[in-house]
Amino acid sequence: MKIGVDGPGLISEIEALASISDAEAPAVTRIVFTPTDLRARAWLKVRCEEAGLCVRQDAIGNTFARWHGSDPKAPAVATGSHIDAIPNAGKYDGVVGVLGGLEAIRALQRSGFRPTHPIELLVFTSEEPTRFGIGCIGSRMLSGTLSAEAARQMKDSQGESLDEVRKSAGLRGELATVRLPAAYYKAFAELHIEQGPLLERERISLGVVTSIAAPASLHISIEGSGGHAGGVLMPDRRDALCAAAELILAIENAARTSGAIDTVATVGICEVFPGAVNSIPSRVRLSVDVRDTDLKRRDGVMQKTESAAHEIAARRQVSIHTELVNADAPAECAPAVIEALSQSCRKHNFNFLPMVSRAYHDSLFMSRIAPTAMLFIPCRNGYSHRPDEYAFPEDIARGTLVLAETLAALSR
Ligand SMILES: [Zn+2]
Repeated sequence: MKIGVDGPGLISEIEALASISDAEAPAVTRIVFTPTDLRARAWLKVRCEEAGLCVRQDAIGNTFARWHGSDPKAPAVATGSHIDAIPNAGKYDGVVGVLGGLEAIRALQRSGFRPTHPIELLVFTSEEPTRFGIGCIGSRMLSGTLSAEAARQMKDSQGESLDEVRKSAGLRGELATVRLPAAYYKAFAELHIEQGPLLERERISLGVVTSIAAPASLHISIEGSGGHAGGVLMPDRRDALCAAAELILAIENAARTSGAIDTVATVGICEVFPGAVNSIPSRVRLSVDVRDTDLKRRDGVMQKTESAAHEIAARRQVSIHTELVNADAPAECAPAVIEALSQSCRKHNFNFLPMVSRAYHDSLFMSRIAPTAMLFIPCRNGYSHRPDEYAFPEDIARGTLVLAETLAALSR
């Protein structure tokens, strides 16, 4: 069996999908359930149907495009990723795994391969947290990590509920039906750009992911007391931003001193009220993101954040409230899928690097219900989530070929 990936065809599909965007090229903005997202979904559905795949959507809009195998009762082997994009992002994050997955299936079809197990392309709803504040809504629901009830409570920043928004996008059915039955999938493999600099630095064109770091995020609100920047003297102040500044540095320090390079913590949002030059900050909201490959260490940073908040609040006479948005466990990838990916690399004499995924992906949640692993390709300078995100066509084609080999091996 000789598998031939249509590299130029795949690149022109990536370009075509990038043109369905709310940002000016080369930037891509595609927020879940906006008219643009719906147009992109419709475009993709046509591509899947042209490949002879059987397409269905669940109640939250996860899309399943199935190539039937010779054994209709056998659990499917799946690949896929997401097509939503944060504001001003690039064209490769998620998309390489979706269109690369589709091209892998078409390449297998052209080679004459006939699977025993069905092969399914999965496109997850809202991998990015842009609209609803939490990432991987689709895969969280498929795996039962996010319950239908909790999903129903979710609202976007305009106050529109996820349930209303998905219904006006034409999605019917009960949210409770999204969760997949046990053993629905035999295996899941996701192709993705690395979103980091390692592969490029090591000059290795493929990465086989063996574990996915555990993310957690917090919202912190700090209430002090405002007032005139001239009138209130320093001993009388309860400045919320000064308290926030101390807390931000305490969080940085907790990550720096965890004892492992794998611990990272970021305060990416700091909103200051009222935000005037001559007014003492009365209220601050922070968003905190903590990740580690080790759950204990990650939770250690969370605990240090809590105790620093207590100490600072007492000393500065402000109130600090922390709210846990999510705290997910890390995932170990499945040896069988890691091995299938590695074998496929070896078969074509491609070097590969075993690595940790420091960003999280739908695979983190798929790993709870299916043997899962990921395949990384390099992206230039490690850039991602920005308009100049770039992956070389030969890397995309190579990743797609390895993915096709892997799907073939797992679905025999
Ligand atoms: Zn992604």
